[in-house]
Amino acid sequence: MMIKLEPVLKENVWGGRRLVTEFPYHAQGEHIGECWAVSAHPHGDGVIKEGEYAGKTLSWLYREHRELFGGIGAEEFPLLVKIIDARSDLSIQVHPDDAYAREHEGVPYGKTECWYVMDCPEDAALVIGHHARTREELADMIAQGRYEELIRQVPVKKGDFLQIDPGTVHAIKGGFLILETQQSSDITYRVYDYGRLVDGKPRQLHVRQSIDVINVPCEADKKALRHTVGLPDNQLNLLVECSHYKVWKLNLHGALSLSQCYPFLICSVLEGTGSVDGTPVGKGDHLLFTSGHGDIALEGDLEAIFSTVGQQES
Ligand code: ZN
Repeated sequence: MMIKLEPVLKENVWGGRRLVTEFPYHAQGEHIGECWAVSAHPHGDGVIKEGEYAGKTLSWLYREHRELFGGIGAEEFPLLVKIIDARSDLSIQVHPDDAYAREHEGVPYGKTECWYVMDCPEDAALVIGHHARTREELADMIAQGRYEELIRQVPVKKGDFLQIDPGTVHAIKGGFLILETQQSSDITYRVYDYGRLVDGKPRQLHVRQSIDVINVPCEADKKALRHTVGLPDNQLNLLVECSHYKVWKLNLHGALSLSQCYPFLICSVLEGTGSVDGTPVGKGDHLLFTSGHGDIALEGDLEAIFSTVGQQES
């Protein structure tokens, strides 16, 4: 079965208009920061658009028809795929792992995430990691507001891919358009928000939790980034495999038959046009193939990101 979901658009102080001007998404507002394209999270549970389960949510389908997801044991649908349009800088933040999220937030999942950079300015950089050598030094630098000294900046180009493990300080900057594949969680600890005011007040920071969960020292900047230019055409190119997910890039020129041998497989079209099992698809379309779908017939000229669940939740 191929499932299409109604995307959930989110307004964020740092968001822009690209998701509604460059993609087939609809929302009011000047600051649309996120499109939750494949999500069963309670803060944006996608509604199935058509077919036998039209009108039901993805969380309902996962709960009632686990066989469509290969019978995996994850207590909630494990992944969330979104597109982020950052018109201005996001806060400098960090996410907990599953154990910390369960103990301190009462939710099953922390947040491991990865980013495919769909677009960014020339000579751009993202914040990945920090320079503190000990937790004490980290706490001091935060207490003294020495953020410029604390954070690491990593140069990034369009087409780069970054894995952000829990405990890694990170920030998306203004001008980035990113496809994010993540665990189904929205637990975020804000380390610093550039002193910004939202509705006249600063947004809440989570300094204590941040100091608890930040990895010290941090080597993430050395291994987080991978360039994807020049990957071979017409095959799934593995970008990352971790315990929570597997993510691939496809550059399609022509026809390709893909075997759907996973508990489920998500396809997000980044660019171009083509067809999937005879249905036309283009930029911004997201499809979820259930277990037992059989081979997927792809045709056209397009770029896409594919994802499925990792070992831990299977
Ligand atoms: Zn994040």
